[in-house]
Amino acid sequence: MDWTDRLTTGDGRLWTAVDAVLSVVLAPSCAACDELLDHPTRGAVCEQCWQSIRPLTPPLCDRCGDPLPTWRSISIPLALCPRCRRARRLVDRARAIGPYDGTLRAIVHALKYEGRRSLARPLGALMRHRGADMLDGAACVVPVPLHPSRRRERGFNQAVDLAGHLGVPVVTALRRIRATSTQTGLPAAQRHRNVRDAFALASAGNTLAGATVVLVDDVSTTGATLEACARVLKQAGVVEVRALTAARVVSPPR
Ligand SMILES: [Zn+2]
Ligand SMILES: [Zn+2]
Repeated sequence: MDWTDRLTTGDGRLWTAVDAVLSVVLAPSCAACDELLDHPTRGAVCEQCWQSIRPLTPPLCDRCGDPLPTWRSISIPLALCPRCRRARRLVDRARAIGPYDGTLRAIVHALKYEGRRSLARPLGALMRHRGADMLDGAACVVPVPLHPSRRRERGFNQAVDLAGHLGVPVVTALRRIRATSTQTGLPAAQRHRNVRDAFALASAGNTLAGATVVLVDDVSTTGATLEACARVLKQAGVVEVRALTAARVVSPPR
């Protein structure tokens, strides 16, 4: 965390003056592109970077949110990608702000690994906007939990921070009961094995039978973590599990 994270956004002459002084004295740079910030009081990422985040290009798979080749959406009434047509998924629908690359990736990194927690609010606002379908009619959002040891190490859970800005009640319905080795670099099948049985229902999850809930995380890579969470929620009687993440690693078409 740095000092720009502690400032709230605002407008008016005071902030203009504060911006002018801060820009000169501290020369803070954008957490995504490293250019000097013209308006440090408006947040840690510059306006151009926020504007440059592109959405996933429709048509999207109705279930997992992967972009589909255009011809598929015309030929199939319910647009599903090949993977979702092959295997039943426990996450019923998933969406993200955009693909996990470029500026969006830099912003997620700054939030997660550099502790720029003030970025959760604008990122959450974008998730709320682009993932409105996921939140519509949902009883609550459920952040994907970190194992307590990882949570202590990082000092916060980015999924909890994001979930708090989605305008829907947050229920910490899940616990991580097994510390899993890092997923980075593992192929999909191993990722699924790696997180299987890593989650359990927390006491707050007992009230969710019959509900539609939205899992929230920063990034969905193969969907293995979200599937493992969805399994626990469905066993607890949740009727529909949706997922909303800041970013999504787009699977190569198969
Ligand atoms: Zn920037
Ligand atoms: Zn799909």
